[in-house]
Amino acid sequence: MEKLLVLTHVDESGGALTKASLEAVAAGMEIAGALEASVTIGIVGAQTEAAAQQLAGTAARVLAVRGEAFAEARYASDAAACEALVRAVGATLVFAPASARFARVMPGVAYRVGGFTDTHITAVAKGEMQSATLEATRWFYRQRVEAVVRRETRPWFLLLEAGTRAPWESTGDAVAVETVAVELPALRTRVTGVRAPKQGEQTIRPDAKVLFVAGAGWTKKQPDGQVHAAEAETLILNFLRVSDASLGSSKSLVDQSGENQTVLKFLTHLNQIGQTGATPRHPKGLATCCHGEEPHVVGWRFITERRAVSLDPNCGWARGKADVLYVADAFKVIAKVNGLLAERKQANN
Ligand SMILES: Cc1cc2nc3c(=O)[nH]c(=O)nc-3n(C[C@H](O)[C@H](O)[C@H](O)COP(=O)(O)OP(=O)(O)OC[C@H]3O[C@@H](n4cnc5c(N)ncnc54)[C@H](O)[C@@H]3O)c2cc1C
Repeated sequence: MEKLLVLTHVDESGGALTKASLEAVAAGMEIAGALEASVTIGIVGAQTEAAAQQLAGTAARVLAVRGEAFAEARYASDAAACEALVRAVGATLVFAPASARFARVMPGVAYRVGGFTDTHITAVAKGEMQSATLEATRWFYRQRVEAVVRRETRPWFLLLEAGTRAPWESTGDAVAVETVAVELPALRTRVTGVRAPKQGEQTIRPDAKVLFVAGAGWTKKQPDGQVHAAEAETLILNFLRVSDASLGSSKSLVDQSGENQTVLKFLTHLNQIGQTGATPRHPKGLATCCHGEEPHVVGWRFITERRAVSLDPNCGWARGKADVLYVADAFKVIAKVNGLLAERKQANN
């Protein structure tokens, strides 16, 4: 019988599990049921009592590695914590969220226990083979080839991509937690602080319901023969404020900064969506002033509902790439939409 361990960690507040951790828990519960495997959930954090209560309803054994040394992400302490949890359970299968914190330690942990790691897993399921085995799905070659992977090696570590399933929702029962002791190696790395991208309207928000894409058209000459970059910035930032959308961009727009052309100052290559950019997962996407060429739209693979605003009725979006194309001036459309959203936000407050 497989012994499944789901590794989780607390979020920045220190008091709750990350959403991606709870998604891994949901995956673990489903697979443990399908494979008739035993399931244990491991938590890493300074304080783990409150976070453990989010696991109510799983009926899983819950182990925790806790203490000040585990407050911050650090290779030596996180790897030691995960290794201790894997050994305590004698796990044969390990699910973990592909967070920055766990993605960097899991291959090392797998090596220490003679296991194997697969990354970028988007789905897990019971295989079709005679004896129930686990099958994991992942994409290769920039999301062009989808593979289903089975492995004999145990323990098998799977880093699950965030946003690929609904997180576990607790039922409110009390959860008993067992503490696992960890012998820490000498810690050479001291965490003195965190430097993170500015939080604000320009933030990339993976959990947002809407992806808003700005294309190069925002900085091009408009029908009056003028460029309106300052107005474009205001419109886009206002839209992000009232919609809480995540901000994406076309490659042409973010490349312009290197070409001394008019730019939107809050965009970087991290915002780029597409073949040489990101492939985010949002339920809805709205492209504005963007042509919708294939290398860009390939990054929209996991966007469920797609809409675009472009002046060009023959743009790529019109050729089957969008569910709805508004052939219109995005400056006017977004100004109007911002007004409507602001009214609605005010009414809801
Ligand atoms: C190998 C390779 C990899 C690439 N990878 C990527 C990638 O990862 N991501 C990516 O985005 N691109 C990528 N590209 C580039 C891609 O092919 C396009 O050149 C790019 O996406 C075009 O960006 P755009 O649509 O913003 O700009 P443009 O093609 O300049 O389109 C601007 C659009 O804005 C419209 N417009 C202008 N003013 C308004 C207005 N007021 N209202 C409404 N619409 C308006 C215009 O009609 C036009 O359709 C790649 C290309 C190659 C060759």
